[in-house]
Amino acid sequence: MIKSLWIAFAILFLFSATVCFGSDSQTAYTVRIEPASGELSITARMTLEDDRLFIAPIGANQFPARWAAFILDLKVKGTDGKEIPVSDNGDGTWKIAAKGGDRVDLSYNVKLDHEKHEWSSGIDGAAYVRDWGIFSVGRAFAVMNGEDRKDIDLKFETPKSWKVSGSWKDNGVGSFTVADNNDLSESMFFAGQHREFSIKREGFELLFAIGGPGVVEQESELSQLAGKVMDYYIELMGGLPNPPPGTRFEKVLVVVSPGKTTDGEVIGNHISVILDTSGDPMGAMISRFIFAHEFFHLWNGKSIIPESVSEEWFKEGVTNYYTIKALRAAGALPEGAVFGVLNGLFYQRYSNDEGFGKKTIPAVSSGDDKHKHWGMIYGGGLFAGICSDVAIRKSSGNRRSLDDVIVGLFRDYAGTDKEYSKTELLNRLAALSDSNRGFFEKYVYGAEPVPIAQCLSDAGLDAKVENGQLMVKRKADESAAEKKMIDAMFGGQ
Ligand SMILES: [Zn+2]
Repeated sequence: MIKSLWIAFAILFLFSATVCFGSDSQTAYTVRIEPASGELSITARMTLEDDRLFIAPIGANQFPARWAAFILDLKVKGTDGKEIPVSDNGDGTWKIAAKGGDRVDLSYNVKLDHEKHEWSSGIDGAAYVRDWGIFSVGRAFAVMNGEDRKDIDLKFETPKSWKVSGSWKDNGVGSFTVADNNDLSESMFFAGQHREFSIKREGFELLFAIGGPGVVEQESELSQLAGKVMDYYIELMGGLPNPPPGTRFEKVLVVVSPGKTTDGEVIGNHISVILDTSGDPMGAMISRFIFAHEFFHLWNGKSIIPESVSEEWFKEGVTNYYTIKALRAAGALPEGAVFGVLNGLFYQRYSNDEGFGKKTIPAVSSGDDKHKHWGMIYGGGLFAGICSDVAIRKSSGNRRSLDDVIVGLFRDYAGTDKEYSKTELLNRLAALSDSNRGFFEKYVYGAEPVPIAQCLSDAGLDAKVENGQLMVKRKADESAAEKKMIDAMFGGQ
């Protein structure tokens, strides 16, 4: 009797010890939002892996302390409530007078005045405050520790009438499970009185958080467009995005807010769009373009990954080509507008780029150059993609196309850790058309301008460059074969 009582005690003791150990190792962040304060108040409880705290290593490079330039009153306390000294290294890292295995409480505030500063890639990749709520990327608020942290609890405390649309696994009522530190920082949320809707396909969710005048009114239009674009990509590629193991995702958050100029940014797998709501039709078109472009990166960029930055033209430029096709398929872009965009948006930026005719596309594809030479990579890359497509279609009687190259890469590389090389890409392009042999060495990896007017003429369009403008239209005497090819390249519904 006594013996079994002891056993019962022992089991009870072991059980409670296990429970304690479990909760002791848990990492939990709480983000408190009081709208009037213009700050996020954050507390975090964690077991340290080492004595270093840090913010995300990407972005906010205009400040020596990077994202930490917005972090105030960082304090660390032990479980006994005693404050632990923290020294700020000034570079977005801190050293604390504690060691791996210590359980600590962090507290700090994030000042949300990011909009007062210049951001080379736009405020859509940082944080902003609006009357209807607050947007922030994870990079802007997450102070982290260690490399191996998993299953982090993240809770938001907001005014009662607010909701939180977050990019993490949603447990309801402002509570999320975050996979790891990368998922914590490569993320975004919108908290406020915005609208939320989602589009689901085969267990994959595209969650929209939209707010503000001029944007909420577009809910049904945005939702229809997003559904059609998603269906086009899934059908084209033969399936949902399939990134390398360990980076799988079931949900993509898209935040859309109004602003003075249209812009977009991808953080992790999530998309932030600022929409110019002034009624400018070009602005409205560009915002749809940005959404569809960023969305296709989940396939071309996240599932199919280049080994080197020298294939940035394929990642960005070819994505632009499929963005145009997707918007055409969704009925969101008339054919005349496509030809207008080829000149107004792409040829102008390409031909007026400082590198045009002087530098190769790969030479301007790294780091800050990528923003400076947008025209070369996004415009020149698009034209190189179109030219290779025309070459393949001409070589195969319009039976094969660039689709075969991108779908082939997706089939062979998606869902693996493998990245494609320049040689592999060029071999695949050349295998479908001899004309693609040598083309890329000359116009992409060489500095000669991509002969886009010639390529479009080869496809059967009336295309020429006149007074610095790329003029494109259908020929009056278009043959049936030409019509078929052009419809396949830029066709709509
Ligand atoms: Zn892109």
